[in-house]
Order: sequence, then C-alpha cells, then structure tokens
Amino acid sequence: MDKEWRIEIPGFGILRVAPKLLDELASFRQLKNNQPESGGVLIGKHLNSGGAMVIDNFTPPQPTDKQGRCLYFRSEAHNKLVNQVWKESGGHSTYVGLWHTHPELRPNHSPTDLKDWRNALGKSRYEGNRLFFFIIGLSHICCWMGEKNLFKSKINLIGEYEIGN
Ligand SMILES: [Zn+2]
Repeated sequence: MDKEWRIEIPGFGILRVAPKLLDELASFRQLKNNQPESGGVLIGKHLNSGGAMVIDNFTPPQPTDKQGRCLYFRSEAHNKLVNQVWKESGGHSTYVGLWHTHPELRPNHSPTDLKDWRNALGKSRYEGNRLFFFIIGLSHICCWMGEKNLFKSKINLIGEYEIGN
C-alpha cells in the first residue's frame, strides 16, 4: 500500500494513517485457519498542520498476551513499550488507540471489544478526549472513534479501508 488512509472527522480534522502501518497491520490478518487473533496499541502524533493526527506506529503482540483463534488479551507489556517510544520521540509519539484482528472479511466489534474500548476511554491516560480503535479483518480494516464523555463514552465507526487496493 503506497497511499495513506485519510479520514475527515468533523470538529477534529483529518486523521491520517501511514501506508507502512497499514501494511504492517495487514500482515497480522488471520488468513489461515491456525492463525490466532493479534493485537496491540496504536501510536501516533498530534499535528499542528497537515491534519489533526497521524497514526504511524504500533506495538505488536507480546509474549505475555493471550492469543486464540477468536480471543485476544492484551497484557501490560504494551504500556511499557509505549512509554519507551514516547520518551525516545521527545514526547511526540503517544498512545492514540488500540488494534486487533478478527477472522472475518469486514470486521465488526464484539460486546467484549466495546467493553475493552470503553474501559480504555475511561481509564487509560491519553492526550485529548479521543481514542481510535482498529479491527483488522481479512479484506477490510475498520476504524472506530471513541470520545470520552462524563456519562457514557461515544463509539462510532468512522472509516473502512480495503486492504490491497
Ligand atoms: Zn474483537
């Protein structure tokens, strides 16, 4: 993939996803029956120009994660990696969301995913009030945006990316 994925978000600006990241995430697709769910954290930069944010990095599955065909549990190890990247980048690269794979063409979130995302919105530390959630399906990557709210966080599908076009 050589073109970045751009999503226009009203009241926020343009979310850009780097082509290299799309390639790397697509490589975890569960194309064979024995491939487990994978996941991790999305890392990006808040921008002052040329868009509102670019997502250009991620953490891959860690040995302490739990991975099954239809199960993925993210361990604490990802937090350490994000902190390391944050320090090395002088505070520019930061935690902006979560990603994981699903063995279906056009992925949909499960009740467990929603619970996990709401938990991330409410309890994790991040800049601003939004987090982005990617599910990597077999043919598409879908992106949901979560907005933190005092009462109930809003989570909406904001874009779909066809892999390999
Ligand atoms: Zn899921």
